[in-house]
This record gives sequence, structure tokens and C-alpha cells, in this order.
Amino acid sequence: AAERLAGKTVFITGASAGIGQATALEYLDASNGNIKLVLAARRLEKLQEIKTQVNKDFPEAKVFIGQLDVTETDKIQSFVDNLPKEFKDIDILINNAGKALGSDPVGSIDPKDIAGMMNTNVLGLINMTQAVLPIFKAKNSGDIVNLGSVAGREAYPTGAIYCATKHAVRAFTQSLRKELISTNIRVIEIAPGNVETEFSLIRYKGDESKANKVYEGTKPLYADDIADLIVYATSRKENTVVADVLVFASNQA
Ligand code: NDP
Repeated sequence: AAERLAGKTVFITGASAGIGQATALEYLDASNGNIKLVLAARRLEKLQEIKTQVNKDFPEAKVFIGQLDVTETDKIQSFVDNLPKEFKDIDILINNAGKALGSDPVGSIDPKDIAGMMNTNVLGLINMTQAVLPIFKAKNSGDIVNLGSVAGREAYPTGAIYCATKHAVRAFTQSLRKELISTNIRVIEIAPGNVETEFSLIRYKGDESKANKVYEGTKPLYADDIADLIVYATSRKENTVVADVLVFASNQA
């Protein structure tokens, strides 16, 4: 894997926490620091902390951090276009930024939460993909990894919007994979079950007791378990597409 990742540029959305942060660290480990990372999220101070640590642990790695809210459609293309020269030639895009907001029956979902989920999980991911795709098409190579979810395979009550967004991610991913079938661009969906991150705290809007209940008595996945799969999928030989990974926590079905 280290050889195939060597010198590549990886762009991760939502890199300031959880799966995105773990994925950045996993790429550094898997490449022995021979990698360039573009880490984007809204919380620049978190990204700065990550960069400082990476500079210590992997002095040879190159890290660019930038504030990017993927719901700000008009900023995405200029973010990509204005990357410093040595980070412009993106090889791997990880569309990871995403969230569930609230856990309500359809009749009482806050319109702001509907927009928040749709704009981040669906429109943000689509716009990011559109911004980076010309780079991949020009060189006829590149990997796009979209974070789906088990919620994109089966819908559950009080999760109608989140489930709808992850079904949309799945459909978009499949369609794009087929569209690009005759190219060397790989389009990959990683669909995790229950992963212990800030995700639940955000879903329950800071209510720790509700958030912690999600993991009570379960054996959740951890962010680095998902990071491991992302790096695995994007470090296969060119003839191999790990197209679709559904990964459960060990006591989840
Ligand atoms: P976290 O809440 O721990 O991390 C989410 C990341 O996304 C943060 O870095 C956050 O950073 C960033 N983010 C949120 N909104 C935006 C935005 N508008 N623009 C840019 N970045 C944003 O969640 P996870 O790591 O668990 O989730 C990552 C992905 O995995 C999501 O797509 C989620 O749906 C998916 N997933 C998670 C599961 C789980 O159980 N945890 C299960 C299945 C799928 P910042 O606030 O700094 O912007």
C-alpha cells in the first residue's frame, strides 16, 4: 500500500474530527508520511491542532488546512482552484463531511435540520465531486470515496431525512461509477454502521445522555476502523475497484 500511496494528494472534507481526522492519520501511517493532505472543515482551529501534531509525527508529510463549509456551494470551486500549487493535483477525494440532525417524526422535523442534512450530506458531496472531477478526468485517474451509511440501505423511523440523504449518496455514487466505467477513476461507497464519534452528540444537539445511549451495551466501530477501510480501498492495484463496503459494528445487523 505504501508504494501505491507514495506522493499522492488526498483531499478530505470534514477532516477536523471523527472519521475524517482518523482517515488523515491512517494515510500518514500507511504511506510512512509520504503523502500530501488537504484537510478541510469549518473548525480551522481543530485542523490547526491536527496539522501541528502531524508536523511533529511526520515531518516529511505535506499538510494544507483550509476552512471549508461544504454547504457554501459557491466557495467549493474556488477553494479547489486556489489550492497551493503542490496540492492542486488531487488524487483521492474523501467526501466525508456529513451529519444527522435531530431524531424526530417527520411532522415535527425542524426545516433548518432538513436543510442542514440535505445541504451537507447531498449537495455538499455533489458539489465537491463536480469541483474535483475535471482534475481526475484530465489525467484519467483518481479515487472518489463517498461516506454512505447503513441508513442508505435501510430506512428507520425518526431518521427520515438522514436516511434519505444517505440513499441519495448511494444512488449518486452508483450512477457516477457507471458513468465513469470506461475510465481509471474509481468511485467507492463506504457505508458504516454505528461508529463512536461526535456524530451522536451532534444528532442529539449536545445532549450527552441521549448521545451516549446510542453506544450503551454495544460494541461500536471506531473512526480508525473506517479509516482503515478507506485507505485499503484506495490503495488497491489499478485493476481492482472496492466499489461498495457495508460495515457493521460486531453486534449490529
Ligand atoms: P463527526 O461528527 O465526528 O465528524 C463530522 C465532520 O464533518 C467534522 O469534521 C465536521 O467538522 C465536518 N462537517 C460537518 N458539517 C460540515 C460542513 N457543512 N462543511 C464541512 N465540514 C463539515 O462524524 P463522523 O466522523 O462520524 O461522520 C463522518 C461521515 O460518516 C458522515 O458523512 C456521516 O454521515 C458518516 N457516518 C457516520 C456514522 C457514525 O455512526 N458515526 C455511521 C455511518 C456513516 P466541522 O464541524 O469542523 O466542520
